[in-house]
Amino acid sequence: MSKNKSAIVTGSTSGIGLGMAEAFAKSGMNVMLNGFGSPDEIEAIRRRLADQYGVKIGYHGADMTKPEEIGALVKAAEEQFGAVDVAVSNAGIQFVAPVEEFPADKWDAIIAINLSSAFHLIRHALPGMKARGWGRIINLASAHGLVASPFKSAYVAAKHGMIGLTKSVALETAEHGITANAICPGYVLTPLVEKQIPDQAKARGISEEAVKRDVILGVQPTKQFVTTEQIGALAVFLCGDEAASITGAALPIDGGWTAQ
Ligand code: NAD
Repeated sequence: MSKNKSAIVTGSTSGIGLGMAEAFAKSGMNVMLNGFGSPDEIEAIRRRLADQYGVKIGYHGADMTKPEEIGALVKAAEEQFGAVDVAVSNAGIQFVAPVEEFPADKWDAIIAINLSSAFHLIRHALPGMKARGWGRIINLASAHGLVASPFKSAYVAAKHGMIGLTKSVALETAEHGITANAICPGYVLTPLVEKQIPDQAKARGISEEAVKRDVILGVQPTKQFVTTEQIGALAVFLCGDEAASITGAALPIDGGWTAQ
């Protein structure tokens, strides 16, 4: 049922966002990619998805710290595809440090990219969804939207905030054929996680190996990383009409982490 729909996925040049963009394209959706990276690599991704799945794939380089660029991203997708039916806020960054040493500029950047950008994407995409009487808003929160870990004050605050935003939007849109849900993954081996391993080792005074074994997979009862394909499949399901009654939910996909 997602065939012929059009989606924006922020932060889809890498990791989970790219996994969702590919799953959407495979299900027949047009996708507007977004995120940073080398222009050649991004163009190669855009072309591969378009050729492989026979859908329209665009790219817009909006910086998620800049509200006016987020507005331009929605406008570009509406012009290119005729509609934005699915708005996925996925772009995110991480920084790990004890709260009293946490740099204020890192706090501001994490709140802007991991939380406020979702507000801006939603407020620009919603009028079109309401006019058409159909829409899907998906916010990539995290297990850290449900539970905390030390040294991630900004990230945990942003992800908890994202779940609150999701619930409010779900209530406001419930009678418009629109759903809003948060996906809460456990650890996925993407550049965002790989980059924090040395910082975690430093903050905790342990080896990088111990970070992977005890800190990262230690919290996940399955002892397995979640995969981008698994998250992509959940996102596609949420876009179907079978998922019309799932709204305002924070859905863990975390190998049992938050069951503990
Ligand atoms: P990643 O580093 O692989 O990808 C992040 C994406 O966001 C990239 O495309 C990057 O270019 C983009 N991005 C970063 N800053 C941006 C900005 N200012 N404007 C536009 N795009 C920007 O990370 P990932 O692990 O795929 O994370 C994706 C989302 O999933 C994040 O919101 C993250 O918090 C969340 N998440 C990740 C994990 C995990 O274990 N990897 C777990 C739970 C939740």
